[in-house]
Amino acid sequence: MTKKIAILTSGGDAPGMNACIRAIVLVCERSGFDVFGYKRGYNGLLKQEYTKLCAAKVHNLAQRGGTILHSARCLEFKEDVSGQQAADNLQALGIDTLFVIGGDGSFRGAQHLGRFWDGQIIGLPGTIDNDIAGTDATIGYFTAIETAVESVDKVRDTADAFERIFLVEVMGRHAGFLGLNGALASAADYVILPELFENEDSTLGDILDQLGERREQRGDVSYIIILAENVWPAGIADLAEKIEARTKTEVRPVILGHVQRGGSPVSQDRLLALKLGAYAATLVGKPVTGVMIGEQNGQAVAVPLSSTWATNKPLDTLSVETMRLLMNNRYA
Ligand code: ADP
Repeated sequence: MTKKIAILTSGGDAPGMNACIRAIVLVCERSGFDVFGYKRGYNGLLKQEYTKLCAAKVHNLAQRGGTILHSARCLEFKEDVSGQQAADNLQALGIDTLFVIGGDGSFRGAQHLGRFWDGQIIGLPGTIDNDIAGTDATIGYFTAIETAVESVDKVRDTADAFERIFLVEVMGRHAGFLGLNGALASAADYVILPELFENEDSTLGDILDQLGERREQRGDVSYIIILAENVWPAGIADLAEKIEARTKTEVRPVILGHVQRGGSPVSQDRLLALKLGAYAATLVGKPVTGVMIGEQNGQAVAVPLSSTWATNKPLDTLSVETMRLLMNNRYA
């Protein structure tokens, strides 16, 4: 029987969301399903703003950053009246299956919707933070690492030329995946992560000790510190001032900000997005709902939406170990 499918992208956008939309549309179209895309996350669902999707509309899409459906936050969606409105709209359009591509906030929204709508709901992990349990990686994470690394490489050139200390802030206020792997791949000297941060004094002491040792060994070389956003209590400028006051060396803070969300997705994100999207589309009409499709050890898995935010995903052990071996950090 012909099914009607809807897709929305919600929360922080991530490179690869478009590739995921493409995969869902192509597989669903091949099965003879009608596919709709809601605009601007849950806002479009509440206002019944959608567009019809088909193969022609997703042509040349896998390589494009952002999301053709646009993304947004929609705070009112937390209310029961919104859940009911969304359910009524899905019912009116005759939707059988809704795909939600987004982060843990968007999955909470999907779970909320499930209280009012008994159609099939399937989540796909799209966030640069990689902070979703139940999948080894999230769509957008690899591109964000690449962007951070390219930026740090550039900062390093000027840092070396002026023998300066540079502090580079990356996204990831609750999870240090981007900070940790971005710091490793860019051969930074020190990294400050939410999972491993103890307090200001121990971190500052650690940095100053390491810097002193480094300068004894190598002279006045550059020194690069990666800081995950929101970890240093008074912000990056405060940390820069504190290091500068104690080292008498110029410290330049650099905030990478939203550039980390942009850009054409790297192959790993395209592959993850296409694999998860295509697999998810094969589940239409099957007795599977309220789940996120993730990848674990090369296999597609369906995990309950509630488990994606219930547990804190641990940092990759091997990366943490490598940080201890190669970088200056002395995290216990
Ligand atoms: P992300 O999906 O990237 O984590 P957010 O945390 O901003 O992004 O969440 C995206 C959207 O999901 C919110 O703007 C809101 O519409 C919806 N949402 C988040 N939490 C809930 C909730 N507890 N109940 C209903 N909707 C929610």
